[in-house]
Amino acid sequence: MANPSSSSGKGVFEKILIANRGEIALRILRACRELGIKTVAVHSEADSDAKYVRLADESVCIGPAPSAQSYLNVPAIISAAEVTDAEAIHPGYGFLSENADFAERVEKSGFVFIGPRPETIRLMGDKVSAKAAMQKAGVPIVPGVDGALPDEPAEIIRIARSVGYPVIIKAAGGGGGRGMRVVHTEAALLNAVNTTRTEAKAAFNNSTVYLEKFLENPRHIEVQVLADEHKGAVHLGTRDCSMQRRHQKVVEEAPAPGLTPRELARIGERCAEACRKINYRGAGTFEFLYEKGEFFFIEMNTRVQVEHPVTEMITGIDIVQTQIRVAAGEKLPFRQKDVVFHGHAIECRINAEHPYKFTPSPGRITSWHAPGGPGIRVDSHAFANYLVPPHYDSLVGKVIAYGDTRDQAIARMRIALSEMVVEGIQTNLPLHQDIMVDSAFIRGGTSIHYLEHKLSLASKGE
Ligand code: ADP
Repeated sequence: MANPSSSSGKGVFEKILIANRGEIALRILRACRELGIKTVAVHSEADSDAKYVRLADESVCIGPAPSAQSYLNVPAIISAAEVTDAEAIHPGYGFLSENADFAERVEKSGFVFIGPRPETIRLMGDKVSAKAAMQKAGVPIVPGVDGALPDEPAEIIRIARSVGYPVIIKAAGGGGGRGMRVVHTEAALLNAVNTTRTEAKAAFNNSTVYLEKFLENPRHIEVQVLADEHKGAVHLGTRDCSMQRRHQKVVEEAPAPGLTPRELARIGERCAEACRKINYRGAGTFEFLYEKGEFFFIEMNTRVQVEHPVTEMITGIDIVQTQIRVAAGEKLPFRQKDVVFHGHAIECRINAEHPYKFTPSPGRITSWHAPGGPGIRVDSHAFANYLVPPHYDSLVGKVIAYGDTRDQAIARMRIALSEMVVEGIQTNLPLHQDIMVDSAFIRGGTSIHYLEHKLSLASKGE
């Protein structure tokens, strides 16, 4: 389809403040520029020379390098919006993007938060209330118990028995793959619950934990949605993010391989309907585990995701521009029947880290050559002579390959990775090259444990 969001954005917002850094700050900046919106980049002292800071119309330094004093510094961000006369704030992903208190502060200070309403973020940010809301909205959830685990040991044991081992104990406030523990036997149960509670309290300041069935061999399949304030809601199909290490995504693709169009339409419709039921606004992702033909909801991300480009490639829809438009109160410029899927797209997350030991590798990039050619998109803020700061996550860019078929996308990705040169720091490019020739990956449909298993065999030299 023609991209309905590429027409002039006059009347949307005059100026947006980008409360983020790295590749996503650049991505948001590009969306704003295309819509004719002026931009304010806020940055820490470590990011003063960043590409998006230079490209932004204005920039404000909001504090020293540590995130707590800069990218998480709410008063500094709000006052940057005030002094620059920005109308809206785009939070990107990570940092304050799923912080309901921040969204509320932004709105109370008279700015538009580009994302869902604070109460929606709060509802979905607590995984226990999110599961309950989704169940009510007709979305299939992982079998488990409704609500948080009680304190009484006997009750916890009873609940785990009724769900059946193995079970997984998860923090209600958890995120980023942290705050989870798998339990295989009753003997290990109470200890696991206590440890998860203590960790959850320390990491998320919320000791609430819940219990669900541990699915042994699922895939991670998610559904992208977009919704407006006028009850408009569409899904943009599926992504498969099963290639994970320590619950962190490494490779993502769209659509999820092997799903029938009927399965896709059924789960997609449920998600769009759930958005209408909870009055969702903006971009969001419903994350599912998928096993033996069934979907089980695990959580909703109420923001743009790292892997959004693969969906943009197969739909032709600009997700970031659409976020901005619906935040300004516009109706979605398309309906479900206008969303047409073409081809296949794969994304490799390029991290500044040792390819197999995964230790971070910040430092100066001495040489940088990004790949190109048909179907290749590179979203990155890096360049030759760029200093990767040690203070933030290690993502230095994303290589996205599109093809008419999955095989073509893989073939193009292999060429792209072989052309890409990053020197001065270590990256996981060799790992991605290995994955792109892995026979199970090429067949498609591997489970969330596949990569860890492959890596453990490699480290044993098998
Ligand atoms: P986070 O918010 O930390 O990303 P999620 O709830 O999205 O946590 O889970 C992250 C990952 O943990 C999933 O992609 C999956 O690999 C694993 N996981 C979570 N819940 C289960 C479960 N019930 N059974 C098996 N694996 C799970």
